[in-house]
Amino acid sequence: MRRELSENYEVVVIGAGVCGIYQIKKFLDLGINATVLEAESDLGGTWYMNRYPGARFDSESHTYGYSFSDELLKEWHWKERFSSQPENLRYLNFVADKFDLREHMHFNCKVDSAYFEEIENVWNLTLKDGRKLSTRFLVMGVGLLAAPTYPRYEGMDSFKGRSFHTYHWPHENVDLDGKKVAVIGTGATGVQVIGAIAPIVGELTVFQRRPNWTAPLNNGKISEEEMDDIRSRYDEIWEICKRTPGGFEHEPDRRGFYEVSPEERKALWDRLYDEPGFGIWLQNFREIFTDEEANAEISKYIASRIRQRVNDPDLAEKLIPRDHGFGVQRLPLETNYLEAYNQENVRLVDISETPIQKVTENGLRTSEEDFEFDIIVYATGFDAITGSFDRVDIRGLAGEKLKDKWVDGPSTFLGMMVNGFPNLLMPSGPQSGSASTNYPRGIENGVNWCTQLLEYMWNRGFVRAEASLEAEERWTAHVTKMYSTMLMRKAKGWFTGYNSNVDGHEHGRTRYFVYNGGTPKYVQKINEVAERDYEGILLTPSSGLPPEHLEPGEQPRA
Ligand code: NAP
Repeated sequence: MRRELSENYEVVVIGAGVCGIYQIKKFLDLGINATVLEAESDLGGTWYMNRYPGARFDSESHTYGYSFSDELLKEWHWKERFSSQPENLRYLNFVADKFDLREHMHFNCKVDSAYFEEIENVWNLTLKDGRKLSTRFLVMGVGLLAAPTYPRYEGMDSFKGRSFHTYHWPHENVDLDGKKVAVIGTGATGVQVIGAIAPIVGELTVFQRRPNWTAPLNNGKISEEEMDDIRSRYDEIWEICKRTPGGFEHEPDRRGFYEVSPEERKALWDRLYDEPGFGIWLQNFREIFTDEEANAEISKYIASRIRQRVNDPDLAEKLIPRDHGFGVQRLPLETNYLEAYNQENVRLVDISETPIQKVTENGLRTSEEDFEFDIIVYATGFDAITGSFDRVDIRGLAGEKLKDKWVDGPSTFLGMMVNGFPNLLMPSGPQSGSASTNYPRGIENGVNWCTQLLEYMWNRGFVRAEASLEAEERWTAHVTKMYSTMLMRKAKGWFTGYNSNVDGHEHGRTRYFVYNGGTPKYVQKINEVAERDYEGILLTPSSGLPPEHLEPGEQPRA
């Protein structure tokens, strides 16, 4: 049975997605007075929201599941190599039900503001509906891609058909059969939805501003036997995920790019392109991310594969990116994306040549043509990483606003704490290891670290933790420096904070959003901080109370 919302908690977790689900499990295991506040009407985060056709993992399903429970690993059967949104949501519900987590979650609880109160060292929260509560610690599980952004076209409200952002795809069935549909945007979301709906709709018109490099997902079913094999290897799988930069089973090729002949490189790419998952991106030579020449060669190779798959040569050229090399933006994996353009009912409109001028009552007007649609789909991306933090009015010491502090980009300690914002924890914050890895692998590291910090504090009677300014500056400089060798630093993608629909996020104003050092280095760094008694974090004991040892669940406050 769901518990009533209290006025005081030791920990409040915002967000009941992949991160919040695991985080509340950890606190409940310790017997802590904790709860989850979720703005939506149910759990699941990204997998609750993104219901567009084609939405699925592009991480291998079995590496996306939680690793913390052997029982859970034994019980769950992934049905597809890259599982689809409905199944992923079922999985998260299965986890929540199995561990009785739902009763510790409050839905339809949008947190409007969180103000730190310096005397009591607590966060005071106000919900959208006016309710107020306080908590010693505030954990942000708000997601990295949870603030969708729309283009700013004139007339968007005047359209008489249906229109929605992919993130807000309706919960009820959308009848696409025979419909005239527009999709704006060709990022990871766009390529999934286009490939999935092309065979269903009457006419599909794709409005592409810039083409994106893509590679095939090569999905398939997982049989009982294969699943048994995966189950028997889970320990080994987690070990591999721990040692790879991206938290996947894909390990970079250890050979130097220039150590092998062009023929050998091509043989590798021929194999990887046709294998499932991110191999072509992450099992590749490391130089493709840092060396212009190496990157140009793989880009040329992928362009040749695009030409093989798209029948119309002129159209194929339009689908090949010219302004950035392969893999320097987040690589979308697709099913039937390029082949969709071989269908009679699918048309590509290059809006870099003929820009969209306005949305009309019946469709869209470009500089060349009027289009009529029944449905307009905005696959136009997100105010990534900091956008979901900006949507809560978070104020730390002396009333400083987090949004103001981060106006030119985030600065953090380990991606998990912020100077001036005590007792605020971000297991998957900007500049953390979660932002650029297989997400569950990243959040498990973040959640474990945040939980251990709080246990350390509870056991010693500390009531306030704040990253020092020096530690924050050191970390942010480290994160920034790692961009300097990466070709990614020039890319117009969300890894560098680019979003044409958000003021201040224009190309060239780089935001250092993600940790590029890879999982092993990140884990080593956060563990070192913990081993050195949380060096870089200012810990304050409860006034008048001597440090003491407490049993799990026992709390130091009087
Ligand atoms: P995105 O990668 O940012 O792509 C947005 C697309 O919309 C781009 O093609 C962009 O064009 C276009 N666009 C934006 N504003 C526009 C405007 N005003 N007019 C015309 N076109 C506009 O967003 P996304 O596709 O939603 O993907 C975001 C991230 O979500 C991915 O990188 C990935 O990390 C995650 N994701 C994961 C999965 C998965 O796990 N399988 C699936 C989907 C998404 P420009 O390139 O010109 O800006």
